[in-house]
Amino acid sequence: MTDLATERRLIEIIRRAARPAPGVRVGIGDDCAVLEPDVGSLLLATTDLLIEDVHFRRRWATPTDIGWKSLAVNVSDIAAMGGRPRWALIALACPEAVRVDEAEAFYAGVQALATEYDVVIVGGDTSASPRGWIVNVTLLGDAAQAPLVRSTAGVGDVIAVTGSLGRAAAGLALLEATPPPTDIGADARADVTTAHLRPRPRTREGRWLAAAGGVTSMIDLSDGLATDLGHVCEESGIGARVELERVPVASTVDAVARALDRDALAWATSGGEDYELLLTCKPAAFERLAEGLARATGTRLSAVGEMTAAAEGVRYLDAGGRVVPIRPGFEHFVTGRARA
Ligand SMILES: [Mg+2]
Repeated sequence: MTDLATERRLIEIIRRAARPAPGVRVGIGDDCAVLEPDVGSLLLATTDLLIEDVHFRRRWATPTDIGWKSLAVNVSDIAAMGGRPRWALIALACPEAVRVDEAEAFYAGVQALATEYDVVIVGGDTSASPRGWIVNVTLLGDAAQAPLVRSTAGVGDVIAVTGSLGRAAAGLALLEATPPPTDIGADARADVTTAHLRPRPRTREGRWLAAAGGVTSMIDLSDGLATDLGHVCEESGIGARVELERVPVASTVDAVARALDRDALAWATSGGEDYELLLTCKPAAFERLAEGLARATGTRLSAVGEMTAAAEGVRYLDAGGRVVPIRPGFEHFVTGRARA
């Protein structure tokens, strides 16, 4: 199929995704969507921009991957507040030469994520781009109870993360490696590249944690532990101490790091895009939260350190208790800046 994707065709593709859904009075097709949040719930709003050759490359990200991830990163922000993602607006600009099947594949990726996370597409826009793909997603969600924020961590709180860290950065390193290394098993390769291309935001975990009580702050790990923990410290006005040997790193990440002669722990602390949750909780609540979360969702919660007085700053310690300098955050490729 080689049709060029005219704007009219793109709008048809988007409209096909429309379906009746709770809370949607008017969906795609009018000037605005008309939405009706549940009585007494709070509305959460977030937006994110993905730009070709800043956040992804067409060389290794298919249109379906791009569609999936563009919504996933927004869903992760709603997860970080303990909310429920609900309604999305999808704006896509791509060069005139993009084919209809590529545009359809993009929306198929958006729709696959939306279906799995119970998100309804209620609007969007398309445009020609002079160079490269540009995707902007706006996502609305709701929260029945007070959303978890970054500014309420306390001194002495345990710092914990869901899942494991570094897989997405290992995947990116592998996708970018030229020539690709040949001595990595197919399972490890698939594990880390899937983590990068098709992240699975922790909405069930976020909602369970918000309802469980005892969590004092939460954020999603979009820019890496170092940067995102820095946000929590800054917003809460306190410091943190992380014990690096407790940071969970998957064996697949170690395998890729060995093959590429890179540092798995650096990917875990500074790599970004894992879309795991970072939370703080009262020390007495940690065991209950870890056991309850594992039972309810199958996801592991690992304690990696504790919040400290502001004067101590943010410190990363090795197994011997020595301070290790950690590069904060990460930059996408050469020109890009990490997302907030
Ligand atoms: Mg976030």
